[in-house]
Amino acid sequence: MSKIAFFCIPAHGHTNPTLEVVKELISRRNEVWYYSYDIMKEKIESTGAKYISCDKYDIQMQLKPEDADRVGKDIAFSTEILVKTTLALDEAIYEDMKAWKPDCIVADSVATWGKLTAMKLHVPFVSSTTTFAFNKYSARIMKQDFKQLFQMMLSMGKSKKYIKMLQEKGYPVKNIISIVQNDNDTDTIVYTSPEFQPFSETFSDKYVFVGPSIRKSDQQVYKSDKKTLYISLGTVNNQVTSFFQNCISAFKDSDLNVIMSVGDIIDLNDLGTIPENIKLERSVDQINVLQQADVFLTHCGMNSVSEALYYQVPLVLFPQTNEQSGVAYRVNELGAGIYLKENNVAAIRQAVKEILENSLYRRNAQKISESFHNCGGAKAAADRILFIAEKRASQKL
Ligand code: UDP
Repeated sequence: MSKIAFFCIPAHGHTNPTLEVVKELISRRNEVWYYSYDIMKEKIESTGAKYISCDKYDIQMQLKPEDADRVGKDIAFSTEILVKTTLALDEAIYEDMKAWKPDCIVADSVATWGKLTAMKLHVPFVSSTTTFAFNKYSARIMKQDFKQLFQMMLSMGKSKKYIKMLQEKGYPVKNIISIVQNDNDTDTIVYTSPEFQPFSETFSDKYVFVGPSIRKSDQQVYKSDKKTLYISLGTVNNQVTSFFQNCISAFKDSDLNVIMSVGDIIDLNDLGTIPENIKLERSVDQINVLQQADVFLTHCGMNSVSEALYYQVPLVLFPQTNEQSGVAYRVNELGAGIYLKENNVAAIRQAVKEILENSLYRRNAQKISESFHNCGGAKAAADRILFIAEKRASQKL
């Protein structure tokens, strides 16, 4: 039996793919502790892992709204938050980990405090990457633009202060880049196939492309006689009320069966009267809905796109962030989707029509789906983690 510690950020997209891996580890009688945030508590506990709350130490939750918006967009600012979170969590995590002695730490690529703890305690580390794996080649597609890199350089002066703070707490870090970037020597699990990952041939064999980790739906799938369009902008950047209004106008008189997930935040009164052929929800069982869908109008979150392609659903692409633009670019390049050119009624109607009328998009989605099915999934991810953990455990004997 091995002891594995997981670390993640409070985002569904980063947490969901790890859950099947955790279940797999536990089914093989390993012990898993999972450090995350209370909005994920239920999900994590349902896997059988021990959940440990990091809410008390969350720097991001204490930010002013205008600053919260900068996280993920402004690299310098995001780095500052990551370092501060690590320092805030230090006491809680360090003592626990020292006493529990995990055989392996698995941390989301953004939850750098996991990686730093592994470095500090000399515990083997595995990075869990829910987006495309990142290197100088895939960066081109992921639109890590010059401005951001420039900002990063500018922040270097300031970052010296943070590096010093980390070093004083016993973290053996040399520079900020070594914290935020993975290299070809880091064991890394990537939740996609080598065929979908851009430039997968440029990554070392430390990278395991395990395919998307698809959870199961416990509801029965009902297929409508009509074509079904599913619309969602995910769980984070989903407050584009005008987009949902335009979708309603585009399809209110159509013979499509429309399912629209609008998230927790927008005001439903702003959407007016909802026609009968449109089912509006704040959140749906997306895995179930995708098994009914003929086309998905999506913000191109990595999970949403992977789940859709897994079920061979072609896409209309409406990315909201740089990372999502990278995913959209790849889908378009492989012919499984087209861009929504503008957020207006005519463009939305036209893009959906094109996908429904041209079967090539579905055929290309099927090809990507096959590549996902050919990957090892959660089992392969668990195999790699246990290989590393067991090697460590044998060294301890
Ligand atoms: N999701 C869901 N129901 C919804 C909307 C989203 O279950 O109504 C899930 C979806 O299946 C996916 C995750 O939330 O696993 C969203 O992750 P993604 O990476 O696509 O986007 P994010 O929300 O992180 O922008």
